[in-house]
Amino acid sequence: MAKAKHERSKQGPTDGERVALPETDEGTILFNVPFPKDLSQLKAMAPIVIKQPYQIDYIHSYGQDSPFFAGLANRKLLGTRCTKCGYTYATPKLHCMDCGSECDWFELPQVGAVHTFTVCYFGSEEFLKDTPFVLILVEWPGINTLFLSRLLGADSLKPSLDWVGMKVKAKFRRLSKFKPTDVYFVPA
Ligand SMILES: [Zn+2]
Repeated sequence: MAKAKHERSKQGPTDGERVALPETDEGTILFNVPFPKDLSQLKAMAPIVIKQPYQIDYIHSYGQDSPFFAGLANRKLLGTRCTKCGYTYATPKLHCMDCGSECDWFELPQVGAVHTFTVCYFGSEEFLKDTPFVLILVEWPGINTLFLSRLLGADSLKPSLDWVGMKVKAKFRRLSKFKPTDVYFVPA
């Protein structure tokens, strides 16, 4: 759609094309339709297209990841460590991605450092109202993987490379939603 618009503008729209009412998908609220006396005409009828909201409640299990969310609800950040090779995961895995062995839970320090960051000017519907917001990958000494989270308390309109290496502290929602967003980071 955007591409088609762009191509048309390259050719140069006529004055008439520039003027148009904004289009929405609101459409007409339909209360009645013409109906033929002769039912044999019904097959020639144009299809009725309606719009209606659609919502589902999706119940799913966190399975082996459940302790991570229980940790957040108790203001603890949990990682896992491979019982065989010792590889440590800041984003928990219950089986080692390297050797396939089982991992055990351990508590991560609540102060880490910014490994890298990005400023998001667009996001899914849930986070759109917060844009621009800052996502960081948090690192800890001796931990083999990084943890993706939000950084609050840094001006997203003035991103700075000085943020790389900055000490950050985990904060937790008081009322847990049992989502990864239950934890976020602020400058320590
Ligand atoms: Zn391993």
